[in-house]
Amino acid sequence: MQPIIVGAGLTGLTLAWYWKQIGVRALVIEARERVGGRIHTVRQPGQAAGVEMGATWLGLKHTALTALLQSLNLSIVEQFLGDTAIYEPISTSPPQLVQLPHNSEPSYRIAGGTDTLIKALVEHLEPEQIVLGQPVRQIILENDQILVQTNENQYIGNMVVCTIPPNLWLRNIAFSPKLPLPLEEIAAQTHTWMGESIKVGLTYQQPFWKKPHAGATVFSNVGPISELYDHSAPEHRFFALKGFLNGAYQIATQQERKDIALQQLRKYYGKQVEMFDEYLDTVWAAEPFTYAAYQHPVLPHQNNGNPIFRQPYWNGKLFFGGSETADLFPGYMDGAVRSAKFLFDLIR
Ligand SMILES: Cc1cc2nc3c(=O)[nH]c(=O)nc-3n(C[C@H](O)[C@H](O)[C@H](O)COP(=O)(O)OP(=O)(O)OC[C@H]3O[C@@H](n4cnc5c(N)ncnc54)[C@H](O)[C@@H]3O)c2cc1C
Repeated sequence: MQPIIVGAGLTGLTLAWYWKQIGVRALVIEARERVGGRIHTVRQPGQAAGVEMGATWLGLKHTALTALLQSLNLSIVEQFLGDTAIYEPISTSPPQLVQLPHNSEPSYRIAGGTDTLIKALVEHLEPEQIVLGQPVRQIILENDQILVQTNENQYIGNMVVCTIPPNLWLRNIAFSPKLPLPLEEIAAQTHTWMGESIKVGLTYQQPFWKKPHAGATVFSNVGPISELYDHSAPEHRFFALKGFLNGAYQIATQQERKDIALQQLRKYYGKQVEMFDEYLDTVWAAEPFTYAAYQHPVLPHQNNGNPIFRQPYWNGKLFFGGSETADLFPGYMDGAVRSAKFLFDLIR
């Protein structure tokens, strides 16, 4: 078996690792100059903790992901929320401090950062198995062989697994022979989870927001930051705030986003918010290897998990994977791991 995997996100790397364990050496072709896709931990060189600009949280119900973490000896830590949160219900009233109810289903983060999962998978692969900086443009079935073409290169295998979000492959990759129309129609209406979101993070020398029993939790209907959390790793003396900025701010400049985020934080914490070391934001809709505009508007999670994606195509030479194709928890990291496991069991 000489499989080619398109995309070095969590799905592609997990599948490559599963195959490696049974002696199958897949070639993973990645468009970006980095691995991880929607998992992107930004850290300073040598820093033991970083800011998650992509996937951050998991729950204990995400059993495919937690099993993978366990098998890679990676641990999880509970997200600290505190007993109270700042709540802004309406722009005409000041922010309030509200009591948070007991959380029966806490969220967890991967200890050391979500990218430790990606790094652990990569460490189990041979360096030559991953090719970076090669956006796939065309996938061709020719004489029982699969040709995967980028602008610069052509890769040959005997099957291909495309793990990039469905609307993205539909828009960016030409398939020959053509794909069935119903598959294309569903792909065009499949939401790429979190594709419209903007993450914002600020790092500090001191966690000035910290009080006994209180974190940095903010829920605001006023915004532009709708949710904010303590993103610190105190054991590494790393202190940060991280949240979601209203997606409409994708058309603003980064300076404008920074100004308006600080203006909101000043309301809660005063001028000390200006003493940040680093301001970071990621507009995922501006990431060409995650997001492409839809032909028609789609709803969140629309068609995520549609069974049409889990069929083999081209007589078992072409498969689709990726979190959006999973039967359970599609869109989430758990869905990505489930997709990899499904493909591993299917392609024997
Ligand atoms: C802001 C944000 C927050 C999130 N928060 C959470 C969270 O808290 N919890 C959670 O469980 N999930 C979260 N997610 C979702 C999670 O990140 C995804 O479910 C998961 O990472 C998807 O992995 P994947 O491999 O299926 O897809 P991707 O990570 O999208 O990987 C696809 C890969 O294909 C590459 N690629 C794209 N086009 C091409 C091409 N033409 N040729 C070659 N390669 C290509 C991409 O660069 C990428 O590396 C979040 C996502 C975002 C964006």
